[in-house]
Amino acid sequence: MTAFKTLDDIDVSGKNCLVRVDINVPMANGVVTDTTRIERITPTINEISDKGGRVILLAHFGRPKGKPVEEMSLAPVAPVCAKVFGRAVEFATDNGTQKARDYVATMKDGDILLMENTRFFEGEEKNDPTFAKELASLGDIFVADAFSASHRAHASTVGIADYLPTVAGRTMQAEVEALEAALANPQRPVVAVVGGAKVSSKIDLLENLVSKVDSLVIGGGMANTFLAAQGVNVGKSLCEHDLAGTALKILAAADKSNCEIILPSDVVVAKQFAAHAENETVDNANVPEDAMILDAGPEAVKRVGVAIDQSKTLVWNGPLGAFEIEPFDKATVAAAKHAAQATKDGKIMSVAGGGDTVSALNHAGASQDFSYVSTAGGAFLEWLEGKALPGVEILRH
Ligand code: AMP
Repeated sequence: MTAFKTLDDIDVSGKNCLVRVDINVPMANGVVTDTTRIERITPTINEISDKGGRVILLAHFGRPKGKPVEEMSLAPVAPVCAKVFGRAVEFATDNGTQKARDYVATMKDGDILLMENTRFFEGEEKNDPTFAKELASLGDIFVADAFSASHRAHASTVGIADYLPTVAGRTMQAEVEALEAALANPQRPVVAVVGGAKVSSKIDLLENLVSKVDSLVIGGGMANTFLAAQGVNVGKSLCEHDLAGTALKILAAADKSNCEIILPSDVVVAKQFAAHAENETVDNANVPEDAMILDAGPEAVKRVGVAIDQSKTLVWNGPLGAFEIEPFDKATVAAAKHAAQATKDGKIMSVAGGGDTVSALNHAGASQDFSYVSTAGGAFLEWLEGKALPGVEILRH
């Protein structure tokens, strides 16, 4: 089914497996505060270890810019990995050097070693072939399991694949399979829900989606720019009036490729951007001059529900309103719940991700019912923009 090699296609037993992971976890005062990313890679690591492979983890942490920075060492992450994996994890500092090679030589089948932050080394972000070769010399196999770092062509995400047989780890496999099922070869009709603050950060994404999906729901602050471009008075709403031309071009492109654009017909307006600010629901033609649109109204939410019900596949990025401040989370919560239920009922395949989307869906209590929720920010958005991700392309060789 997949067009690339996975752990099913290679014998890892007794082999040194260099596994590129994303464990760029949030940390406060040297303590890891959220282990989600470590939990995500656990199936890959434990599978290789159980099969008798020697796991050598490569990962970045923060932005040390090519030199060692103490606070960005992965040393404190190693014991947390050990706890989550439920097995011992050693830590090594000298990536790619003779010392590292000597250390790796002492590993036994099933052992797990975490190497120091790959970005402590100048060659990493430059994708320097010498550094990539040095890293590769530690292993027999490269397992790419960091989808969220795959939009960056670095030595440990891309360069290393020139020197070793390369396969996808389970996290990468699940992510790419979900995204391909949503956009590359989806069951049609496909509906995309795109919200968030600004059109300016999502022009490429909108242009790509209108050429691929059957209907596109535009919500959040960015819907204001589209409404205004069509002559609707949006009062004091967040709106990029200078992007009216871009918005009209996107609408024209959608028209040409038979993509139906769904904008909010009614909206919730308030005079203050604050929790529990006095608010009213109005038709989008009746936004008061001194008010701003902070959420989509109930009619608009109903329309989103119909669009979801008419589709077999859903792609979601961004909230439909200012979901962090109640009650302007209503449209996002209602639409997310609707999508979650449709997924649970087996009516749609739903994929969501990017930026605030995960916290919006968590807030709605809907994420566990989506078919797939990507925790990758930039890489997920670049995928929606239709860009080839270098760290995924290496799997297709
Ligand atoms: P993004 O990072 O582009 O996905 O945007 C997410 C942000 O957009 C969230 O912080 C929302 O509060 C904000 N947002 C959504 N709708 C609106 C709106 N109508 N007015 C102002 N901000 C909004």
